[in-house]
Amino acid sequence: MKSKPQMLLFAAALTALSACSSSPYGPTNKVYKKQTKSLANTIRETPVNPAGQSFVGTVNFGLRKPNYVIIHHTAQNSTEQTLKTFTMPKTQVSAHYVIGRDGVVYQMLNDYLRAWHGGAARWGNLTDINSSSIGIELDNNGFEPFAQPQINSLLTVLDTLKRKHNIPAANFIGHSDIAPGRKVDPNITFPWKLLAEKGFGLWPDAGLSDSIPANFNDVEALRIIGYDIKNPVNAVKSFQLHFIQKEITGILNEEEKKVLFNLYKKYL
Ligand SMILES: [Zn+2]
Repeated sequence: MKSKPQMLLFAAALTALSACSSSPYGPTNKVYKKQTKSLANTIRETPVNPAGQSFVGTVNFGLRKPNYVIIHHTAQNSTEQTLKTFTMPKTQVSAHYVIGRDGVVYQMLNDYLRAWHGGAARWGNLTDINSSSIGIELDNNGFEPFAQPQINSLLTVLDTLKRKHNIPAANFIGHSDIAPGRKVDPNITFPWKLLAEKGFGLWPDAGLSDSIPANFNDVEALRIIGYDIKNPVNAVKSFQLHFIQKEITGILNEEEKKVLFNLYKKYL
């Protein structure tokens, strides 16, 4: 027979269980809070002057701001699966936002904190992309078209981020752009042209007829746009995935060279 204190304990356990079932991320939300508190404490510490001399705190400062947005597809089968992946310490991956096929937006991290979404990446001379970017993951199996409600929600999030952090249009790019040869997200069906029309990313002009100068160097143009040209074929593939969206051959045909020539002038 159970004693009274045991009964009480049992009731408390039941309550905790039901709380868990209504919010499966209660425990990881607690971990999030604890980690943000620890980071806040790091910021509050008086800095150690590298020269070992005095500290005089200025009164004029703010938080560092993200200046890029990197768009991904999850290559998973459900939003739930991605939320799980991003709340397990062993995966060491995360993003600021996850957007479901149904358009539901999950924010997973404060914009001012560093998510782990870029991996080994480069854009121009920028190598620590995670420190200066917001990562957005779109629930998608990697091959399917992106659902309309999902794109609508993405546009809303992008609009907020662009205004809040004053992010330049050219700085809305894809994971494949910053990791040629390693990443292919978001997939070839992603509506980059629509995004550019709304002010998120750049897009070549229509009906290109200008002839390309004889001294035009396509690899150099890719580098100026931002691509890592260590492996030029991979850089061309990433360019084709984002700006051509037809065949990914790794070799530019005449039409594609015209697109590149037109586009690179926008990045000069
Ligand atoms: Zn990615």
